[in-house]
Parts: sequence; structure tokens; C-alpha cells
Amino acid sequence: MRIQDFHHSLAELGAKPCHIGRVSRAWLKGLPLDTGTRHQQSENYLPLSVRAGLPALQQGLEGLARLRSQHPAGDGSARLLVELADGQMVESVLLPRDGLCVSTQVGCAVGCVFCMTGKSGLLRQLGSAEIVAQVALARRERPVKKVVFMGMGEPAHNLDNVLEAIDLLGTDGGVGHKNLVFSTVGDPRVFERLPQQRVKPALALSLHTSRADLRRQLLPRAPQIDPADLMELGEAYARRVGYPIQYQWTLLKGINDSQEEMDAILRLFRGKFAVLNLIPYNSLESDEFQRPDRDDIQRMTRYLHERGVLTKVRNSAGQDIDGGCGQLRARAVQTVDI
Ligand code: SF4
Repeated sequence: MRIQDFHHSLAELGAKPCHIGRVSRAWLKGLPLDTGTRHQQSENYLPLSVRAGLPALQQGLEGLARLRSQHPAGDGSARLLVELADGQMVESVLLPRDGLCVSTQVGCAVGCVFCMTGKSGLLRQLGSAEIVAQVALARRERPVKKVVFMGMGEPAHNLDNVLEAIDLLGTDGGVGHKNLVFSTVGDPRVFERLPQQRVKPALALSLHTSRADLRRQLLPRAPQIDPADLMELGEAYARRVGYPIQYQWTLLKGINDSQEEMDAILRLFRGKFAVLNLIPYNSLESDEFQRPDRDDIQRMTRYLHERGVLTKVRNSAGQDIDGGCGQLRARAVQTVDI
């Protein structure tokens, strides 16, 4: 379901644009749709025909994203396993400091070799209303002031729905534009479309290596753009919107944590309006990839930082509870299959 379907249903009930905005804002706050709209004296008063139709609409919206289970972690984050109307499941993650990570697809076609979601391939797209419904659901649990599109899926492969969701969250949803973070492996369409939007989100680019050949192996179905060229595209967007690009680098021991890679980062990041997020891989037992040792991570971070690259180490939220993207869903699907 798309947001425009929801707005269309309201219009059919007789709602004017100002009424649609009010109901939409109540939904996005995680409140009942008729919140504060019943008293004729209230400036939020809604026509009777609209109010009569709200219970059915409310039911439909609640069915878009239901909380199947919640898994709090020691770091203040919590993974939410969310069931969609057709029984498919995605994950959202409540992040510390009022953030939320949302999914944009069931599965993903990019197939990054270190990602559980990529192993299933793409099962289906999420409609814009399903993306926004994850925020409404999370706001029943705690405030959400930042939304990152880094859960299951490649947002660029579902661009229209993600941009619609961003537009609504950045207007009726009350989220600051730079607190909406569009994450991508670097699809050229993103660099064409994002600058044209009314709500221009911040951008996170999955880099993972400075080497084009290694990047092809790690992200087999990502657009084949040389990392240096990708960073030039990112830089142009960062300068235009006025907030830095976040480059994501999943650290895989013995693969992309070499001294050569660190020195290449120094060259690539020189003069860039950028932040580098090093994300140590979240190893499972019998995993083909391992996370680098703690001392090595600290050494790399210090090396880059001292030479002028703004570097942050970001552990994937909730590592103690099947932290990698898609692991929770994979386990739930397995359980259901058995
Ligand atoms: Fe898709 Fe992101 Fe997983 Fe890569 S890391 S397979 S883009 S969900």
C-alpha cells in the first residue's frame, strides 16, 4: 500500500487537504487517527463523514505493520520483528538516542556476501505506507527523531516508495531532513533523484573497500562504479545539501582491513565532506567472515583519525541479539518452516 492510497481513501470520505494532514500526523505519531478531532470547538475538528470512516482506516493501517516480537539489547537498542499484512516479516531497529532503522524491501537483490538479508534474494518491495508504518509502530514504544533507511533491502531498488516515505516523514512526520538517512550501495539514480526532492535526506554510501575488484566480489550485484567515482558523486550531493556523507565500511578481518586499504582511505577522503563509519563485522560461529581484533580496530581508527579522516566505530546495534541485518528474520522464518 502506498501513502497516496491512504490519502485517497480519506479524500473519498470527504476530507480536505487540511483534514488529511491532521489524520496523517496522528498516524505518524503512533496515535489513534481521531486524536483530538472530535470537538467542534477544536481547530482539529473533522467532518462527521470522515470520522465515521476512520475506524476502518485505522484497522487497515495497523495491519500494515504488526509487532511480532521485540528483542531489547544491552546497548539501549531493540530489534523489532515486524509482520506485514501478507505474513512476510521485516526488521526495524530502535536505536539509542531516539533513532530507528527501517526496512524497505523483504529480502534484497544486491547479495552482499556478508549480509544475511542478501542470501534470500528479493522477495518483494515494501509500499511507502508499509515503510512509514514501521515509524508509527516504533513511536508507540518510544520517541523517534531520526530514521535511517538501512534495514533490510536496498532503498535505491524501491526508490519511488522510499522517496514518498521520506517526503511524508520530513513533513507531517516531523523528522528533520538531515535526520532522514538514505543508505545505498551507490545506484546512479539516487544522485539524479535526491537533489530534486522537496525533502533532501542525508546520504550513507556503502563503500566497504577502496578496490573496485574487491567491491565487485563483496557486493556482487551493486552497480559497478569505481569507489573513487562513487565518492565524487557523494561529495557533490554533500556540498549541495550541506551535510556530510556517511561512508559505511564493514570491517572483515584479513579482507578489507589492511594497511593498503587504510592508506587508500587517506587518499580518497582527502578534502571530502565525509564521515567514515567502520562497522566491525558481527561474526556468528562457523562464519566464513570474522571481525578484526579489538586492538586492530582501535589502531586503524587512531591511524585514520590522526591523519584527518573523521572516523567512527559503529557496532551494529544489538549485537547480543542476532545483531546483523536480517538475522532475526532468518531465524523467525526458520522457526516457522520447522
Ligand atoms: Fe542488501 Fe544491504 Fe544486505 Fe547488501 S547489506 S544485501 S544492500 S540489505
